[in-house]
Amino acid sequence: MDSTYKQALYWEYSQNAIKCKLCPHECIINDGHSGICKTRINIDNQLYTKAFGNICSASIDPIEKKPFFHFLPSTKTFSVAIEGCTFHCLNCQNFSISQTEPTKISKYNLTPLEIVEFVLKNNYNSISFTYSEPVVFYEFMLETAKQAKLSGIKTIMISNGYINKLPLQELSKYLDAANIDLKCFDDNIYKKLTGGKLNSVLETIKTLKENGVWLEITNLIIPNWTDNLNSIREMCKWLFKNNLAEFPLHFSKFYPTYKLIDLPPTNSEILFKAIEIAKEEGIKYIYTGNINIENTEDTYCTFCNKLLIKRSGFTVIENKISKDSCIFCGKIISGIWS
Ligand code: SF4
Repeated sequence: MDSTYKQALYWEYSQNAIKCKLCPHECIINDGHSGICKTRINIDNQLYTKAFGNICSASIDPIEKKPFFHFLPSTKTFSVAIEGCTFHCLNCQNFSISQTEPTKISKYNLTPLEIVEFVLKNNYNSISFTYSEPVVFYEFMLETAKQAKLSGIKTIMISNGYINKLPLQELSKYLDAANIDLKCFDDNIYKKLTGGKLNSVLETIKTLKENGVWLEITNLIIPNWTDNLNSIREMCKWLFKNNLAEFPLHFSKFYPTYKLIDLPPTNSEILFKAIEIAKEEGIKYIYTGNINIENTEDTYCTFCNKLLIKRSGFTVIENKISKDSCIFCGKIISGIWS
């Protein structure tokens, strides 16, 4: 056995194999085989993860790039990834690291403590688990989040939200924020586009909120796949009904990539329509991503309508939120601001 493998969490015996209980796929894994995500392997009827510390990508990013617009604006986050994913999205932008298995192209070997020490030494405010799918390096993410909490560093997960409730509840004790990709609101399309189920992602969003993790939602609008306006309306209705209207919703522009290389990019018109629908359904903070449209990346006070945060790309030009309130009318603006 590779000495870098670590004992995995959340699994049980199932007849002569192992059932992994980390994500809703609940793979049955025979001896010598791996699950759908390629990161968890059955060796002698024990489940191990191949994704612990063998980082394939690490960089310093503006928090706005994740995207987070209501969480520590203008700060830098240290981003890390290990290969693998629970989904097989046809439009994956990071397929070179998500659709492969760990150890093959890892660039750095870092322990959770080394990551936290690096972040402290450089005065960054947070650690982001991102680029691939962090759920597949759950044990490493959990251990790093625990170490970070002890040192006052915030941790962030950018995820497809495909994780079972028990491991998510445990992670939520240490995690500060999550941006969840809510791909669409149609289960058939979800399955065809990603290989996952819509309802499981919705459960994740509810669990994160219940456990006090700051949430932002990203919805990528892909022509012919996720651009159905009725479906976008249903998604907004669901967010409102589940008391998620105060959490930012980012509508993101698609560019042709991977297995959807022949599609056109999303046109601006559909993004404007999505924004209108979200407003009509009561969503308070709506933004666009992957596109530069005047005013659609800015934050306005939902009480006095004054401009609070002016952004350009990933840069904050001005910020009129003091502590957690609008400087004009004094009302509290949802978010983690300092
Ligand atoms: S985490 Fe991986 S091995 Fe476990 S159930 Fe999900 S896809 Fe399967």
